[in-house]
Amino acid sequence: MKNNELLFLGTGAGDWINGDGIRYLPHRLCSSVLINGEILIDCGPHVFAAAEQIGDSNLYKNLKHILITHRHVDHFNADNFDKLTTDKKVSLTCDKFTYKLIKNPDNVELVTLPTFKSAPLGEYQVVTLPANHDVRGGGRNASHFIIITPDKKELFYGLDGAWLTNDEWMVLKKHKLDVVILDCTLGNANDHRIFEHNNIDMAHAIADEIRRQDILNKDGIIIGSHFARTLNRSQTITKQTLKKFDVIAAEEGMKIAF
Ligand SMILES: [Zn+2]
Ligand SMILES: [Zn+2]
Repeated sequence: MKNNELLFLGTGAGDWINGDGIRYLPHRLCSSVLINGEILIDCGPHVFAAAEQIGDSNLYKNLKHILITHRHVDHFNADNFDKLTTDKKVSLTCDKFTYKLIKNPDNVELVTLPTFKSAPLGEYQVVTLPANHDVRGGGRNASHFIIITPDKKELFYGLDGAWLTNDEWMVLKKHKLDVVILDCTLGNANDHRIFEHNNIDMAHAIADEIRRQDILNKDGIIIGSHFARTLNRSQTITKQTLKKFDVIAAEEGMKIAF
């Protein structure tokens, strides 16, 4: 039985912040997901635009936990975070550099989770994994998360980041994942960002290895997200290429039951 819902609020990289949505269809918003209406991963500049696009003004009504992968502007927007937490108490998991950006922490319970280990977050369990994605000015890595739902379904959120580190892989190998979300920032391109983001070939190889090593549940799915506007000139080709490798290209408003 599938009791959980993953909703993609945004699937784009930082270059969609002021992106021209007419020339680059489909238009993407900055990457963010909502799990069961309760867990928001990343609170970037477009979380309210996403709710408007989806047509649900109550989208964040049941929000309990906010996890921030890192403080890059496409993942954390202090004004939106402030707006989201003015009338409700939430737990916040983020690094200390992100926390310093918060304007009004009155409704925020900071939950610092250990890395590489499972730790409780309300009814969920979360494993925080340092990602291969440098956040300059503080020398900290972005975080990836494994979210384990109350009914023991497992979701891996791997944005942002290039090739997985061996330490991260060693932890992933101990899990049986139902949903895997992989960075596909570079699309079919190569450029200097290849050391902090995946292209499709890298995501393909990681997806194959996840399947080969039996880390994915038999009806589990792998999804690519965080597409750069400037490196995915044809969103259709990106989608078709990923499909060949049995990887779904995330889209705004896409819902996945797991
Ligand atoms: Zn990003
Ligand atoms: Zn980033």
